[in-house]
Amino acid sequence: MTHIGIVGGGIIGCATALHLLDRGHQVTIIERDAGGLPASVGNAGILAIPEIDPIARPGMLLSAPRWLLDPLGPLALRWGDVPSLLPWLLRLLVASRPAQVERSRRALTFLMKTATADHAAMAQMIAITGHLRQTGALSIFDTEAARDKAFAHEVDNARILGGYDVEKLDAAETRRRVPALAGEFAGAVYNAGYQTFEYPLTFLRRLQATIRERASFIDAAVTSLAWSDEGISVRTEAQNTHVFDKVVVAAGIWSKPLVERVGLHVQLETERGYNTTFVNPSVTLEMPVFFSEHGFVATPFENMLRVGGAVELARPETAANYARASAMRKKMRRYVPDLPDEGGTEWMGRRPSTPDSVPVIGLHPGDPRIAFAFGHGHLGLTLAATTGRHIADLFAGETNPELDAFSIRRFQ
Ligand SMILES: Cc1cc2nc3c(=O)[nH]c(=O)nc-3n(C[C@H](O)[C@H](O)[C@H](O)COP(=O)(O)OP(=O)(O)OC[C@H]3O[C@@H](n4cnc5c(N)ncnc54)[C@H](O)[C@@H]3O)c2cc1C
Repeated sequence: MTHIGIVGGGIIGCATALHLLDRGHQVTIIERDAGGLPASVGNAGILAIPEIDPIARPGMLLSAPRWLLDPLGPLALRWGDVPSLLPWLLRLLVASRPAQVERSRRALTFLMKTATADHAAMAQMIAITGHLRQTGALSIFDTEAARDKAFAHEVDNARILGGYDVEKLDAAETRRRVPALAGEFAGAVYNAGYQTFEYPLTFLRRLQATIRERASFIDAAVTSLAWSDEGISVRTEAQNTHVFDKVVVAAGIWSKPLVERVGLHVQLETERGYNTTFVNPSVTLEMPVFFSEHGFVATPFENMLRVGGAVELARPETAANYARASAMRKKMRRYVPDLPDEGGTEWMGRRPSTPDSVPVIGLHPGDPRIAFAFGHGHLGLTLAATTGRHIADLFAGETNPELDAFSIRRFQ
């Protein structure tokens, strides 16, 4: 039996642990903040199969200067952090070239095509049901021209991914489906390809609970990885050393320094997002609603409503600016006038993002006993089960040429 250590107990680390346990391995997760609230617990809770477009694309570059003028808009840059973000930003520019956009779309499509089935298989491993609802989602637009453009693009993505409905709606039909949308807008696109998870915190805790029954959890912060005679040794802040046959780095945005410890580089920075969660809200949405032109989404969970999103490029440790959460609530009230003024809980989370929006899923080019599983950006919840399956396959020696696109080699 191979003993595999996983650094990071977020959604990616946990999904990988479940797949490795399922293959009969002994697994230990090392997590420095087991009760914490990383991206994996505060996200919008959406299985976002239709989202195969990378962040970097020509249209984004055209809109970016306008967005950046509004410090509370859909895209913000913490200017003091620009020097450290510069290499990533330059790589983002390169990634927006049409040929790279197409490569990223192809790579994300490959993962998305199995993501629903992979989540179903993972749910079976831990015997849970009812954690995903077939809600679909609406995207609201202020002009018919913007709605029609988005509709054409979503139809195209649906054709590539295969088999779900996309509908163009006027404002009246949109309000019939989600009556709380009482404000002014031109129309919407309904996309049946989206599903909604149960509350993300509940989902992650259910995964972690099963893993605690079948694997070991060590509460510690990993400071380095190294090669030793017995295997791969993992050193913690408390100066303890744990030796494993194999190790997976799945530490979200904090994977970058660990990658450097094993002699490699990666372009990984934080796209920070903000949201507000209301408990027992007075307003009900029948499905997630994307306010696409403003870069945020409102997701209804059982007795909760979460409003948020947007992107703030900043170093992980830079102080949060919760005015961004408040700005999204204010914008949402234009469309949903009954959204409460008070009473929500604000949160900031760190999306671990590569400049080409393609996660790193693969083995260390120089040592197949080390695997990388991070960089899922906006899509970590959606792609967790698929990532876990691929890591388990790679450790089993199964090669798949499609996985070359996710290799860390592209950053060396
Ligand atoms: C506002 C927002 C909305 C989102 N909405 C969605 C959505 O609807 N659908 C979707 O698919 N995705 C969504 N995402 C993205 C998704 O949440 C992330 O991609 C995903 O959670 C990343 O998971 P992870 O396990 O890689 O990282 P994390 O959740 O950050 O977990 C990493 C874990 O590693 C631990 N760790 C780090 N360093 C160390 C160390 N040195 N030693 C020990 N432990 C360590 C951390 O404590 C943490 O628990 C959203 C993200 C945000 C911010």
